[in-house]
This record gives sequence, C-alpha cells and structure tokens, in this order.
Amino acid sequence: MKIIKAKQSGFCYGVKRATRIALELETQGISRINTLGPLMHNPQEVARLAAHGIIPRDKIEDCVGGKTIIRTHGITRQELERAESLGINLVDAICPYVKVPKNHIDQFCTQGRAIFLVGDQGHPEVVALLSFAKGEVFVISDPTQIPQLDSARAIGIVAQTTQSREVFDEIVTKCRLQYADTKAVFTVCEDTEKRQNEGREMAGKVDLMLVVGGRNSANTCRLTDICRSIQPRTHHIECVAELELVSFKAAGRVGLVSGASTPDWIIGEIEQWLESKSG
Ligand code: SF4
Repeated sequence: MKIIKAKQSGFCYGVKRATRIALELETQGISRINTLGPLMHNPQEVARLAAHGIIPRDKIEDCVGGKTIIRTHGITRQELERAESLGINLVDAICPYVKVPKNHIDQFCTQGRAIFLVGDQGHPEVVALLSFAKGEVFVISDPTQIPQLDSARAIGIVAQTTQSREVFDEIVTKCRLQYADTKAVFTVCEDTEKRQNEGREMAGKVDLMLVVGGRNSANTCRLTDICRSIQPRTHHIECVAELELVSFKAAGRVGLVSGASTPDWIIGEIEQWLESKSG
C-alpha cells in the first residue's frame, strides 16, 4: 500500500495560533483557562488540552475568573457585551482571516447592499458574523437558496472562510444574472482552498481516500464531500481506532488529507498504522 499524504496537513494557521495562545497561558501559570466553546472542532485535541487545564465552557456566564480565550471563529456581539458586563478577562485568538468577511460585510452594509453570506446556518463563525452585521444578511449554502428580492436591489456576496470556491462561484454567477448590481468578495481562507484543491486532485489519483478530522468539523465534512464526489471510496475518520472499520481491499494507493482542526499527532498515529499494514 502506498500512502500519499497531503502537503497541507494538520492544524491550519488559525488553529495553530489559537492553540499556541492557550498553551502560553498555561505556561504563565494562569489558574483557570476557559475557552468559550471548544477551541477547535476536534474532540481528541480538546480532551488533550483539557488535561492542560484548558477547559471549554458552554456559556459566557461560566467563564468568570481566570482568562477566557475567544476561539478562531470569533464571538457574538451579545456574548462580547455580556463578557464585558461580567468583567471577564478575554484573550483574542480569533483567526485574522475570519475578520476578512466581517470587514466586507461592514462595507457592503454601509453601501446599503443586501448581503448574501455563503455559509452554514448555525456555524459559530456565521452566527458571530450575523450578530455584528448592521444590515440585511441572508445565509445561503447553495444557488437554490438565493433570495428572490427586487432585481434592482444592490447585493454583496461574501463567504464563511471554510466554504468551497465552486459553490461560491456558482452562487455569484447566478446572482449576477438576477441582480445587475452584484459585488462579490471571495473570503474563503487560503488554507481551506489549498486543502480542498489538494484533496480534489489526490482523490482522482488514488484507490481510497482517508479524510481525518472531527465529525463536528464543518470544513472536514466539506473536504470529505469534495473527495467523495471524485473518489467514492472516501472515508471520514476521527482517529486511528476507526481504521479497523475500513476495508483496504485492492487499495494500492491511499490518499491522506485532514481538516483544519486535526492535530499532527492524530495524523501521525494514522500514518504509523497504515505503514504497519503496508510492510
Ligand atoms: S480555516 Fe482558515 S479562517 Fe479558519 S481558522 Fe483556519 S486559517 Fe483561519
């Protein structure tokens, strides 16, 4: 079995940075380190960080005392205001790339445009973006969901940072036919795009694809869908134990890609397991 591992693998820039910030707080001896929600969508890594005293809290009210890390996706305006009123000591680990769609939404709102945000309804990044928007924002995940507004309406289109270019481009093309005044800014982050491109290319060259990442990770699920659309033998796995359930029959070449919140140590365990079966 030949294992082909993606170059863009392991934590993305934003998750790596957030993890570093969290572990630095531990080094500083901060007695209580909270994260508002899990620091990343990877249960195994969240459990590892919990062993370092970095504890996810469900609600802002649970974050009183110590320091509270705002994770890569950001925080809602309401949570921010509540944190300020409770005197919670916040540490900003928002990924700089997540701030890009927010800035464009602000600009489009100032221009009086209706915003079409290409994203997943309910995703923390989307929820945070909606909370700060000062205008009308519609969350859409595919071209069929394009709202039917007055065709003279000015439209601004941006994307959640982990969407796919294909879907974004389809939406923009269709919108331009429907709304003459459409402005679009592609705000998917570079890391996501590289991972998706690499996955797409690899899926066409191997007999089986493994996509490693949390089942609660939207970007991993999207990467899985992209790979599966090309290679039907695509498996989304979270950890090495799940490999026992995968049939590698006639899989001479195996592609290995990962979501943005998958730590290197999980990928390393998977590689080792695959190599042990290759010999
Ligand atoms: S996926 Fe992109 S935007 Fe999201 S945290 Fe990682 S680098 Fe930042």
